[in-house]
Amino acid sequence: MTPFERPGRCCPKCENKGYMFWARKNVEEGKFVETKYRCRSCAHEWWERIPAPRGPKRSEDAA
Ligand SMILES: [Zn+2]
Repeated sequence: MTPFERPGRCCPKCENKGYMFWARKNVEEGKFVETKYRCRSCAHEWWERIPAPRGPKRSEDAA
């Protein structure tokens, strides 16, 4: 079990659930995180954008 693979996700091209984490980058000044996946079946690669977790500082939320 790895934090990069989520249950229910699959390749948008062939719907194979066998994919692997490929890369990650922050976009839009860190507001979003884009994760690149690569399908193990058809080698299709795609980016998935998710809202970045709040941070990197947590001290702001503690107040
Ligand atoms: Zn595929």
